[in-house]
Amino acid sequence: MSAHGGWTVATDPGLVVQRTCEHLDQAGEFPLPAVRECEDCRAAGTGWVHLRQCLVCGHVACCDSSPKRHAYAHAQAHGGHDLARSIERGEEWAWCYADDLFLRPAR
Ligand SMILES: [Zn+2]
Ligand SMILES: [Zn+2]
Ligand SMILES: [Zn+2]
Repeated sequence: MSAHGGWTVATDPGLVVQRTCEHLDQAGEFPLPAVRECEDCRAAGTGWVHLRQCLVCGHVACCDSSPKRHAYAHAQAHGGHDLARSIERGEEWAWCYADDLFLRPAR
């Protein structure tokens, strides 16, 4: 199993051959934002459920359970920004939008 940028594909016990993500080396290290909010939702006056942070540029936006799904919109609008991590307290996982894969910290 290879690890790049601190993330690795989460093992899926239902699969004999594990899937791979070729975007892991694009993941950078970003500090948690000082203010936890979705800027796009604040500007639009909409609410969000959970927050995700793009692992390519550090942009914070709302999750797929939120009405506006700004994190997904960010990935769609910016080619190559396929990785986003959860910044909810107690959660340590990330997601690859290109592969629909769960990632976990490699360390
Ligand atoms: Zn990927
Ligand atoms: Zn939002
Ligand atoms: Zn980004």
